[in-house]
Amino acid sequence: MGCRRRVPAAELLRVVARDGAVVPDPTHRLPGRGAHLHPVVACLDLAERRKAFPRALRVPPPLTTDLVRRVIAGADDLTMPP
Ligand SMILES: [Zn+2]
Repeated sequence: MGCRRRVPAAELLRVVARDGAVVPDPTHRLPGRGAHLHPVVACLDLAERRKAFPRALRVPPPLTTDLVRRVIAGADDLTMPP
């Protein structure tokens, strides 16, 4: 979504929209429409600048990304599928 570089889905962080927020789905299991981005801040910044989240997740803006940013910035443990 951010840099648009194509890599295997396993290398990407899946996110979904919940209650006006972008929520990380590291196990790729949450129901509903998802979107994928590289788990790096640069890709997140790009996606935000392009206002890509509301479009990709098909929900009206605004969508807060604090939770995803914390996860990507390594603030929280992230168990990526092997
Ligand atoms: Zn990217």
